[in-house]
Amino acid sequence: MSAIISIVIPSYNEEKNVVPLYKRLKDVATSLVNYEIEYIFVDDGSHDKTLQAIKELTNEVNNIYFIQLSRNFGHQNALKAGLDHARGDCVISMDADMQHPPEIILELIKKWEEGYEVVYTKRKEINHESWLKRKSSSFFYFLHNQLSDVKLEPGTADFRLMSRSVVDAFFQLRENELFIRGLVKWAGFKQTFIEYTPNERHDGESKYSVYKMISFALKGLTSFSTRPLKLVVYIGLIFFAFSILLIPYALISYLSGNAVSGWTSIIITIFFFGSLQLLLIGIIGLYVSKLVIQTKQRPLYFIRETNYPPLKSK
Ligand code: UDP
Ligand code: MG
Repeated sequence: MSAIISIVIPSYNEEKNVVPLYKRLKDVATSLVNYEIEYIFVDDGSHDKTLQAIKELTNEVNNIYFIQLSRNFGHQNALKAGLDHARGDCVISMDADMQHPPEIILELIKKWEEGYEVVYTKRKEINHESWLKRKSSSFFYFLHNQLSDVKLEPGTADFRLMSRSVVDAFFQLRENELFIRGLVKWAGFKQTFIEYTPNERHDGESKYSVYKMISFALKGLTSFSTRPLKLVVYIGLIFFAFSILLIPYALISYLSGNAVSGWTSIIITIFFFGSLQLLLIGIIGLYVSKLVIQTKQRPLYFIRETNYPPLKSK
């Protein structure tokens, strides 16, 4: 029996993209004669006709599957749902909006045939993205790499190939806040990458608002590093030392009768320490919220409906 390649596509409100994407993928697949291919669309609680469009495809072709989640669980959880189900000897994940050029999967597969277990991708240039998105993305990678032991390369997204062994390793993860690109890097295995130039989004708008991107970045950072917590301690120590010096100064001023000093210095100190404390408590709060979420051990997603065969030959 020929090896199976699973293509997992998380889709949230992509009604006009799923069919054109499938058509492009089908064209690409004509040159993959030695493999059996399955397409798994994970409908992440779309409000539009995404599911209907996928279902129509499944009526025409028998290697297309859908997994409809019970609501919008977010890109990372939708991707995990796809990985959990896919039975391929390798699994390729890509976005539904065609920003990840379907032709590139041939190169991913070539690297896999050479023996690599993870083939990730790096964006060559991101001129289609807004200035804000580009800058915030490079700032995030800079900050993440300064603070975390798992170094991420700029321009990597969830467009990659994972071999069966890597996907199986992912089954063992018990994380509730997924940051898959970091976990892949962390997991090890034999990794390589290829570079590609992203396309413009085929239809619709990005589902990642600036707010969502910041929250995703914070998830990533707190998943891979406790250094911000240590930073809090260091900052605290520096200011403690500073205040030790300040106390004799205040006492001497008082004793020498110069205590009626300016209001400005007091107000600046209050503002400064007030905001510093809020920031530091906030950092601790981020980790505490992670603990709360993790202790609940809730499933990452619920499935409402799927046509994926229940008997997987894993
Ligand atoms: N997506 C998803 N659930 C969400 C948000 C996004 O499944 O809650 C999917 C979306 O349909 C797309 C992929 O994740 O296939 C990447 O999203 P998008 O293209 O909006 O992000 P961007 O490319 O702008 O970073
Ligand atoms: Mg996109």
